[in-house]
Amino acid sequence: MNFNEFKNKLIEIRRLQSAVALLNWDQQVYMPPEGVGERSRTIAALAGLIHQKFISKELESDLLILRKRQSRLTTKRKAVVREVWRDFSREKKLPQKFVEELARAASSGYSIWKEARKKSDFNLFVPQLKKIVNLKRKEAEYVGYKNSPYDALIDVYEPGVVSEEISAIFFELKSFLIPFIKKIKNSSVKIDPNCIMGNFDTKKQIDVFKSIIKKIGFDFEKGRLDETTHPFCTNFHPCDVRITTRFSKNDVMYCFSSVIHEMGHALYEQGILPENFGTPLGESVSLGIHESQSRLWEKIVGQSKHFWVYFYPLLKKNFQDPFVNVSLEEFYRIINLVKPSLIRTESDEVTYNLHIILRFEIEKELIEGSIDVADLPEIWNQKIEEYLGLKVKKDALGVLQDVHWSGGDFGYFPTYTLGNLYAAQFYAAAKNDIPGLEKKVSLGQFSPLLGWLRSKIHMHGKFYTAGDLVRNITGENLSTKYFVDYLAKKYKDIYKLKI
Ligand code: ZN
Repeated sequence: MNFNEFKNKLIEIRRLQSAVALLNWDQQVYMPPEGVGERSRTIAALAGLIHQKFISKELESDLLILRKRQSRLTTKRKAVVREVWRDFSREKKLPQKFVEELARAASSGYSIWKEARKKSDFNLFVPQLKKIVNLKRKEAEYVGYKNSPYDALIDVYEPGVVSEEISAIFFELKSFLIPFIKKIKNSSVKIDPNCIMGNFDTKKQIDVFKSIIKKIGFDFEKGRLDETTHPFCTNFHPCDVRITTRFSKNDVMYCFSSVIHEMGHALYEQGILPENFGTPLGESVSLGIHESQSRLWEKIVGQSKHFWVYFYPLLKKNFQDPFVNVSLEEFYRIINLVKPSLIRTESDEVTYNLHIILRFEIEKELIEGSIDVADLPEIWNQKIEEYLGLKVKKDALGVLQDVHWSGGDFGYFPTYTLGNLYAAQFYAAAKNDIPGLEKKVSLGQFSPLLGWLRSKIHMHGKFYTAGDLVRNITGENLSTKYFVDYLAKKYKDIYKLKI
């Protein structure tokens, strides 16, 4: 067995995964409702086939041979073996019966959660969520961990990062955010978002936003933008990356923020080297690093003044009313309005992170067994009041708002805030490396920044771990410093704060 034979087996598995991704994309974009049943059976059949191929004796023996030969492999090949072995050993540790039980619990968890959310009754969800939490704790036992069982779950999404590290980082961030949000709340600056509401043609919205992301660097020869209820990005190959968005007739920024967010994910996928397709060098580092790419474009660049210096005339030209009567300064303040919300997905970039921190704190304790599922609404509501000063009146607007736990996705939430922190730290490094970066953005020159992200992050796939990547690019470990500085500087100006 030589390395290329091994690589070809990985590529074959990846092609099957691409087929599943395409079926999923189609299900959300085009499929008629009656097709759902058969579609999930088709996906389940393919998923079973992929799993069998991945944990096959054949692949195991290849991996064992390559691990023995490690010293003779190139560093890139070593990284491939390291990463495939990571995934392989995790999957191997989970008994087939357990995987099926978890999949069933997650699938019925979704419909039970949906019903409970509709009725805003957490009690309806309690027995199923208890079952899912127990299964996830069992998963952690199968997989193994050093300190906290929650670490074994985070590892799937953010390899190598443990809850102790996240706790320390989140504690620092929380200590900054809570008083900072109070200062913003007490500011005399009042912002009225209604000034940019109107009646906007959806076809026109899509045309304008397509032209913006094309200008930034999204390659429409290697990707598409379509409409769905929940925006997402998926890819079948670096040459075929799909993003989706949603519309509001009254608010163009509703659509734009999801287009530019998903574009950030897509630029990462389009920047993967095609020759690495199928191997870990053709995959993103982690969910946190992926999210750093979407948040960097959506928030740090896409909500900056220099970005709109270039694009605001385009909005004015295409939509005219109401933008002709709103100055760039005012528009900039409106799109950066800070307003605590009960709903995570409707939150601004400042308050958003407290939503994540509270979910992280709850998840950690749930998985470690120090709190009970039945007590979640009370704990949730207390934290929302403490962090955001809001009262939760209905579970649908509180503990029941997110789908993640119903599908067993514990350990996923922290990657959202890690993404914000990575993004700010990367962007600070990019500003150092690219003279006049923001001036360039205001002139519509995006290739220096995109080229920088490509060469520093995208093209390496999983060669580096997230920790190594951050240290290589920025010279230090992940820290809250850059994100805190970014928020403080930006919002001090917008809200005329004294800090
Ligand atoms: Zn995202």
